[in-house]
Amino acid sequence: MSLSPEEEIKMAARVQAIDEWLPQTQCTQCSYPRCQEYAVAIAAGEADINQCPPGGDITIRGLASLLGKIGKPLNPEFGVHKTKQVAVIDEAVCIGCVMCIKACPTDAIIGTAKAMHTVIEQDCTGCELCVEPCPVDCIDMVEQQQSPDLTWRWPDYSPAATARARRQTVAKLAREQQREHDKSSLHKLRELRQQKGSDQIKQDIAAALERVAARTDTSPADSDTKK
Ligand code: SF4
Ligand code: SF4
Ligand code: SF4
Repeated sequence: MSLSPEEEIKMAARVQAIDEWLPQTQCTQCSYPRCQEYAVAIAAGEADINQCPPGGDITIRGLASLLGKIGKPLNPEFGVHKTKQVAVIDEAVCIGCVMCIKACPTDAIIGTAKAMHTVIEQDCTGCELCVEPCPVDCIDMVEQQQSPDLTWRWPDYSPAATARARRQTVAKLAREQQREHDKSSLHKLRELRQQKGSDQIKQDIAAALERVAARTDTSPADSDTKK
């Protein structure tokens, strides 16, 4: 069903208001690949309000009040609420395979291929997505060192941290989309070049055949036969 421009504006505002109640860990526990996509699903009436373990009861109450719904407990199928942790890499064991960098939704890990990697604590949302891909099991989740912000709705996810996580996730996604686009353009270009190459070969063969035929028509033997 397509929306009118006015409805689209209203829907975008609704998604944004819902997204404000999600702590932006980008952990995928809600079964969506990003907080924003869960917000879109809630706005469209396709997902319930109790699927975000990091946001826990605070998120559920906020969403219930925003959307005029009745509160309910967190659905345990999506996980349990726990205190935020951050990833720490054992740099002596790290083999620099970059699997964790690929998995991290917020660009919180720095390092290059075959060099040790490290986590920027303030950018780590505690999503745990880097832990499983690590082939040498050198990433641990530990209690964060930063003090909780007791003035904010979530002590563990401050407004600055959630804003940064949202921004970095969008930036990473845009970079990945651009890379995919570049890859597909390069692929098309290579195909075109190959195509052009084989067309060129066909043209060269045709031209060579014509030259051979022309030479045969005017060859002395041919002239002699015609006499
Ligand atoms: S914090 Fe995790 S579970 Fe909550 S909305 Fe974001 S991705 Fe989903
Ligand atoms: S470092 Fe690991 S736990 Fe922290 S945000 Fe990145 S993937 Fe998530
Ligand atoms: S996945 Fe593990 S071994 Fe590979 S770079 Fe990250 S921390 Fe190092």
